[in-house]
Amino acid sequence: MKVFLAGSWVDKSNKIEVRNPFDNSIIDTVPKADSGDVETALAFAERGAKAMAKLSSYDRWRILRKTADLMAARSEELGQLISKEEGKVVAEGRGEAARAVETMMGSAEEAKRLHGETVPLDADPSGSKKLGFTLRVPCGVVAAIAPFNFPLNLVCHKVGPALAAGNSVIVKPASDTPLSALRLTEILLEAGLPPEGIQCIPGSGGEIGDAIVKDRRVRKITFTGSREIGDRICRMAGIKKVTMELGSNSPLIIMPDADLEKVAAAVVMTGYGNAGQTCISTQRVLTSKKVYGDFLGALKPKVEALTTGNQLDESSKVGPMVKESEAVRVDSWINEAVASGARLVAGGGRRGAIYMPAVVADVKPEMRISRDELFGPAVGVAPFNTIEEAIALANDSVYGLAAGIFTENVEWAMKFAREAEAGNLHVNWGPQWRVDLMPYGGLKDSGFGKEGPRYAVEEMTELKMVVFHLNS
Ligand code: NAP
Repeated sequence: MKVFLAGSWVDKSNKIEVRNPFDNSIIDTVPKADSGDVETALAFAERGAKAMAKLSSYDRWRILRKTADLMAARSEELGQLISKEEGKVVAEGRGEAARAVETMMGSAEEAKRLHGETVPLDADPSGSKKLGFTLRVPCGVVAAIAPFNFPLNLVCHKVGPALAAGNSVIVKPASDTPLSALRLTEILLEAGLPPEGIQCIPGSGGEIGDAIVKDRRVRKITFTGSREIGDRICRMAGIKKVTMELGSNSPLIIMPDADLEKVAAAVVMTGYGNAGQTCISTQRVLTSKKVYGDFLGALKPKVEALTTGNQLDESSKVGPMVKESEAVRVDSWINEAVASGARLVAGGGRRGAIYMPAVVADVKPEMRISRDELFGPAVGVAPFNTIEEAIALANDSVYGLAAGIFTENVEWAMKFAREAEAGNLHVNWGPQWRVDLMPYGGLKDSGFGKEGPRYAVEEMTELKMVVFHLNS
C-alpha cells in the first residue's frame, strides 16, 4: 500500500514489511515515513485544520456516517485484514471491525452534539449587565499515535472524534500493523472527507515520534500504547493537550461466595482473548484461600481446551502473538516466575509466535508476571484471606486501568467499587469488557483523559468563553 501524505497517495523506496505473525510471510509493504515526511505532514495539517474548521456539523456527521456505512459493508474484508496483520483469530478480527463501525457511528453522532452553554455571569456580584456563553472549537492539528493490538478500532477512537470535532489528523499507526489504518484512510476519503482532513504516515516511532510530538503546530496528542512511550511523549510534548491510554496488569478478585464455573469461564474470555494482548486483559487473579484449589481445578481444563493455531483457521481460539520475540519474552517471564517458586498449572512453552495459554499459580506480588504488564496469554493466580487484603493487593500496582470482582455480596461489591484504584470496574466479570460508547481510560500510570466518542470529542476541542458587556 502507499501512504497518504499531503493530500496524495505516496510511494517511497524505503519500506516497512508487514508480516503475518503466524508464518512470518510478508502480507504487504508500506512506505516508511522519515523526518522530511513529518515536516511535510505538519505543514499540510496546519492548512488542513483551517479547512476542516470550516466544515459544518452536518457535513462532518454526513462524512463520518457514510464512513461507518462503508466500513459495515466491508466488515468481512476489514476483519480478515486485522486478523492477518495483528494475529488475533479471525472471529476476533470480525468483532473488532464491527466495533469500529460503532465507534465511527458514535463519532458521527457527536459531530451534531458539540455545543457551548450560556454562563449566568450575573450570579457573581460584579456580573450584572454581562452576557456570557462558551464556544467549543477544534484544537487544530491532532496527532493520533496508535498501538498494534487493535489496529482499526483504536485508530477509529482517535480519528472519529478528532474529525467530528473539526480537526485535521495525522495518524501514526504501529509499525507492525499499519494496513488497517491505511484502509480506514481510503474509506474516509471515499466517504467525502476533504483530503486536507487526514494523513496516515507509518514510520518507526523511535525515529519520527519526537518530531511529531514536540512540534508546536500539533495542538493535541492522543496516544495509546505502553507506559514507557507514554512517559517519553509527556516529557517531549511541551504545552499542548495530551490524552494517554496506557497499559495495565489488571486484577480480578474472586470472593469465596463466587460461582467458580462462571468465574473460570470469564477468566478464559477475559485473560486469553487476542492472545492476552489487550490493555485490560485479566492478568492477576486474586483468589480467596477458601476456594483457591477449587478455582484452579475449574480453570485448568478450560484453559487446556483453548486450541491454538493459524489465526485465519476458524477453529483456532488463540492465535500467534504479534511477533515471535513477544512469545519469547512471555516465555522468559513465566520461566523466571517458576524458578522463583510459582507453579505452572496449565500450558506454557511456545511454537514460533504462539504461546500456549498458561495458568501460573502461587504468584508473588514481586514477580515480574505480577508487577509488570505481561501482555500475553497467561494469568497468574495468588491467594488472599480478607477483602481488605484483596483490594490492597489489587491496588499494589503503578497501573490503574481496569479491575473486576466476583461476589454475590453487595457490601463487598460496593467496597470494591469505592476502593479499587482503576478507571473501569466490573462486578461479576473480568476487567476485560468494553463497549465503545462508554468513558474509558485509566488512573495512575495507566494514563489520563477518556476515550469513547462523547468524551473524546471534548478532549479534541477547546472551550472559549465569550462575554458581552451590555449597557442595559
Ligand atoms: P508502544 O510500543 O508504546 O507503541 C505505541 C505507538 O507508539 C506505536 O505507534 C509506536 O510506533 C509509537 N512510538 C514508539 N516510540 C515512540 C516515540 N518515541 N514517540 C512517539 N511514538 C512512539 O505500544 P504497543 O506495543 O504498540 O501497544 C501495546 C501497549 O499499548 C500496551 O502497553 C497496552 O496496554 C497499551 N494499550 C493501551 C490501551 C488503552 O486504551 N489504555 C489500549 C490498547 C493498548 P512503532 O510501532 O513504530 O514503534
